[in-house]
Amino acid sequence: MLKATPAVIRRAVFDRSMSTVDLFQNLLCRRNFVTSGRRLFLCEAAKHSTKRIEKLSIDNRMASQKHVMAKRVEGHVESVWVEFGRMAAENQAVNLGQGFPDFFPPSFVTESIKDVANSSNPFSYQYTRGYGNPRLVKAVAELYTKLMGRPVDLYKEILITCGAYESLFCAHQGLVNPGDEVIIIEPFFDCYEPMIKVCGGVPVAVPLRPTKNGKNGSVLTSEDWKLDVDELSSKFNKKTKAIIVNNPNNPLGKVFSLEELQMISELCIKHNVICISDEVYEWLVYKPKQHIRIATLPGMWDRTVTIGSAGKTFSVTGWKTGWSIGPQHLINAMCMIHQNSVYTCITPIQEAVANCFEHELKRMDTPQGYWNELPAELLPKRDMMAAFLAEVGMVPTIPEGGYFMLADISNIDFKEDPTSSEMRDSQFVKWLTKNKKLATIPTSVFYMDEHKHLAKNLVRFCFIKEDSTLEKAAGILREWKKSSSS
Ligand code: PMP
Ligand code: GLN
Repeated sequence: MLKATPAVIRRAVFDRSMSTVDLFQNLLCRRNFVTSGRRLFLCEAAKHSTKRIEKLSIDNRMASQKHVMAKRVEGHVESVWVEFGRMAAENQAVNLGQGFPDFFPPSFVTESIKDVANSSNPFSYQYTRGYGNPRLVKAVAELYTKLMGRPVDLYKEILITCGAYESLFCAHQGLVNPGDEVIIIEPFFDCYEPMIKVCGGVPVAVPLRPTKNGKNGSVLTSEDWKLDVDELSSKFNKKTKAIIVNNPNNPLGKVFSLEELQMISELCIKHNVICISDEVYEWLVYKPKQHIRIATLPGMWDRTVTIGSAGKTFSVTGWKTGWSIGPQHLINAMCMIHQNSVYTCITPIQEAVANCFEHELKRMDTPQGYWNELPAELLPKRDMMAAFLAEVGMVPTIPEGGYFMLADISNIDFKEDPTSSEMRDSQFVKWLTKNKKLATIPTSVFYMDEHKHLAKNLVRFCFIKEDSTLEKAAGILREWKKSSSS
């Protein structure tokens, strides 16, 4: 029989398996539970509830401190692809923003995945080799042995990754220590800066600067954007661990010349710096320009990781397959990150990419080879875009490579908010997307804070789109121009 002594009541009240209300009812039902006991119980229960509420709020506070993001991601925000991709979709805009084709890849690519789907090999459904499917690394080794002019070891000098993004990630995580400086050339593909910072590295930006203004009808090309040799040299010091070279460059479309690459490589060698060479647009170079791989310059193989992407190479951005090629000591560091994060990329897609490489290796030196056909197919799109942008008063920079075009909007009037702290390019892109249903990408996102002002009047347009899509975009801009001048 329960004696309602203070100790018993306290023990009962503190019994966490019963809620206060249940306990109350339970005890009140007992016949020997005297009035004084009842009072004591109520009093204890009330005290306990207060204590529990206090404790809960302390727990909550502690929990909320634990639930915040890790320090290494503090200050990181949604990327431009998330924000502006969403805006394009919400506004059902004609999308010349994010870089992807709006048409099918060639039939050898669509067939390659059908072949995998029809495969009689049960292992094409299972894990494949962690650092790269054997068939794919074999094909990649064969191609890059040709391109690099040296044998590339398929098992030690190649890592297959989930897109070029993961190659960039593994390169940073595997090679950059806290406090290391990494030089990036502006405008740069936006993820470089957060990837460096997440490792505790310090991004050091050097801008390419236009040497002409493209005004008064003169044509401005990405070749007119140059690095200042003294400015670049001044950024190399004892703490410099790496430089990222994006050639051809996104968003500018610059294809670095031999002299420019030699200048960069001399600095790398002098300061014993690694080169992370993002060459995802290697096949998108417009004649007469030629793509030169920095890893092929004297003294560079041993310090360079060259990054490629099936997304660009075969026009399948959704396949998210990339690769890193370089000396064993650098690739091995990246493999250590890959094996403990992704472990292995998906087998059927690697098989399909291997099919594509095997197909193209046979005809790469013919005009029908996809890597010769693709830039030839894109050239008229590029020129068409340059013409319609100029027609509405923008000043395009003709790219030598890639599938993006920068346009200067200094002459363009729109409803901007001069009191806003938001960059003019970003305000323009939002206004154009929402009001004219044409989506593009602001260029200041490709600069670090200290240099964003250099891009305040630059907008990036993507031209790997159906002619009909480009026509629609041109129509929107022409219509707007007509209505604003009448
Ligand atoms: N580098 C650059 C310069 C890019 O433009 C992109 C975007 N495709 C990537 C890397 C990432 O490529 P992937 O889609 O293969 O991850
Ligand atoms: N590389 C593409 C671009 O620059 C896509 C990037 C992305 O989606 N993250 O538009």
